[in-house]
Amino acid sequence: MTSKILLASFLLFALVSCNKDSEEIEPDSEVHWDYESPATWGTLALPNNQCAGLIQTPINIESTNTIKSVLPELGLNYASFPINIIDNGHTIQINNKGTSSLKYNKQEYALAQFHFHSHSEHTIDGKSAPMEIHFVHKNSTDGSLLVIGVLVEGGGVANSSIASYIESFPTVMEKESSLSKTINPLDLLPASKKYFNYTGSLTTPPCSQGLNWIVLKEKLKISTEQISKFEAKYNHNYRPILPVGSRTIFESI
Ligand SMILES: [Zn+2]
Repeated sequence: MTSKILLASFLLFALVSCNKDSEEIEPDSEVHWDYESPATWGTLALPNNQCAGLIQTPINIESTNTIKSVLPELGLNYASFPINIIDNGHTIQINNKGTSSLKYNKQEYALAQFHFHSHSEHTIDGKSAPMEIHFVHKNSTDGSLLVIGVLVEGGGVANSSIASYIESFPTVMEKESSLSKTINPLDLLPASKKYFNYTGSLTTPPCSQGLNWIVLKEKLKISTEQISKFEAKYNHNYRPILPVGSRTIFESI
């Protein structure tokens, strides 16, 4: 009898500790995955699982191997919105319920959410940064995704925008909390909007391919103390880099 109770308790624990949402956007799956075994993601029983595909993210961006050209500007129509924050078991994520959007290459994209990885997922010339922020956008017409990646390093002054919620990380998983503060994602972008551009995937299962990736060339500098606070929450939520293969990486000049 006792062993049955123990087993039931264990199963219940396994159930609640297994997160059901991907950090990126909306796949509704009860399949558990974690950052300890990313090499097995391709075998997860997920609909349209593309984790073993050939156009995956993240990648190492070798700056001597990019096509340098004049690329479309980022039409950032970001505005302040109330902070709705969630710990989804894989990252800290802030959902946008406001009007922030991006116009890129004559297409309109709504900002869905942004979230954090530690350390960075992309590497540039083989080097990672302590953190990376992903701003996930959805095309208003065809639903395709465009993600802006910003590598983050310490050694700077504290970012006042990050300071507005860094003390308010959720203590319960998978429960969105609304703070009485607002945030403007523009404050989380570096001054230069020059970028690398390539086609990749979600960096979490089911690793759906066909995403338009924009990785800013300049890093955002925040305080080392703020980096440490993120790392205290999540310090290994990055997918290892994957082969570039035959893809072309463009770089704005
Ligand atoms: Zn991400």
